[in-house]
Amino acid sequence: MTSHYQQQLVQQLRAAEQELAQWRQRASREAEYRERAEQAEGRLAAVRALHDADRSNPLGPWCPECTCSWPCPTITAFDEGRP
Ligand SMILES: [Zn+2]
Repeated sequence: MTSHYQQQLVQQLRAAEQELAQWRQRASREAEYRERAEQAEGRLAAVRALHDADRSNPLGPWCPECTCSWPCPTITAFDEGRP
């Protein structure tokens, strides 16, 4: 026969196990989001490197990837949120 105290302990244990499972899910999602953010930041840095200003032209900086004046539409889109 189980005492009332033992039943309370079992209920508390089950509640704690459920809370732990929720925290583990959150931690897993956060790790996934962090990984995706790091991938996105890496890709943005790679695109920025491609569209970095070439300042060798005496007429002004230009984008060697787009072959237009710098900042090019790609960099403008990154910095101002518009093409
Ligand atoms: Zn460009």
